[in-house]
Amino acid sequence: MTTEAPPNRHDRFLQLFPKEPAFRLRQIEQAYFTPSMTGWESVTTLSKEMRATLMQEIPWISCTPVRTLSGGTGDTHKVVLAGYDKQLFESVLMANNRGQWTICVSSQIGCAMGCTFCATGTMGLKRSLSSDEIADQYRFWKSFLAGRPELPQRISNVVFMGMGEPLVNVENVKAAIHTWLACTDLGPTRITVSTVGVLPVLEAILKDPDWPAVRIAISLHSPEEESRRRIVPTTAPRFHTRLAKWTHDYQAIHGNRRHHVTFEYTLIAGVNDNAEEAEKLVHFVRKTSTVKVNVIPLNPVGGKSFTASSRQGIEIFKNILLGAGINVTERKTMGQDIAAACGQLALTIQSGGKVVG
Ligand code: SF4
Repeated sequence: MTTEAPPNRHDRFLQLFPKEPAFRLRQIEQAYFTPSMTGWESVTTLSKEMRATLMQEIPWISCTPVRTLSGGTGDTHKVVLAGYDKQLFESVLMANNRGQWTICVSSQIGCAMGCTFCATGTMGLKRSLSSDEIADQYRFWKSFLAGRPELPQRISNVVFMGMGEPLVNVENVKAAIHTWLACTDLGPTRITVSTVGVLPVLEAILKDPDWPAVRIAISLHSPEEESRRRIVPTTAPRFHTRLAKWTHDYQAIHGNRRHHVTFEYTLIAGVNDNAEEAEKLVHFVRKTSTVKVNVIPLNPVGGKSFTASSRQGIEIFKNILLGAGINVTERKTMGQDIAAACGQLALTIQSGGKVVG
């Protein structure tokens, strides 16, 4: 069975209507993201015949909700979506500190990277998502919010931190981002691609004129290659040396105050959270152009022996970095009760939360 993404609807449209002008596709793409348009029948700028064909041939939305869960505190919602072939993947909506919403999108069904703390990694890779299945996660959450007028309506940020490694599916990720930039009010600095650090793709991005200038977060998790490989088994040889160089090259092209690279660092008790690791991390960060480290308390995953660092351990680790002048933030843990927190997406049914759809 292939792990390739399915073709996108743009290609299907061109098969059906090869003589249509390019503006027709842009018109249709805009229609997908217009709240008053709820199906092909409402796109009255298209001829009746064309609408009838499209109703038969191209689903109005590429993924359909199977189950929607809301966390007990109301600030996190998770949906299980079925793709065109009924394979399932997850997407998360989280309240952010702007009083708006951030979507945590998936780029693949499962993941081949096998990070040892992550539930998605235990699924293996089923397949990559098409650009439509990625872009339509935004559309799903917009309609979810429209049905709940008591909630804030604006989705202000998107993070690629759901299922999958986005840079393994980079062309579809890029296409989805371009769609959002063209059809929503999201700007490039409101979109973050979080990657385990697929170096050949990161290096290719530097020369890609089509790469949208979004933010990049690298899941570092350890300042040294051997210890990182215990957490991220796909760590390439000379990872840290190549990554340090890459950050300088990236900074030279895209860097500014709003556009820095972030290192994500999941803190795992007894594995990567001691003072010595913090000192080594300071040493590594100083070799890079990176100005920010985001520490993430580990979220529990069934069947994994790793445990989260203690509150005291997290504070000691952060203070070593802060004392060295490094900009450190800590990710707020959200959605644990519905298995929607970082590293927990694996289509498991949780006992917590409330099923809302
Ligand atoms: S942490 Fe990300 S890259 Fe690693 S296995 Fe999980 S989904 Fe894949």
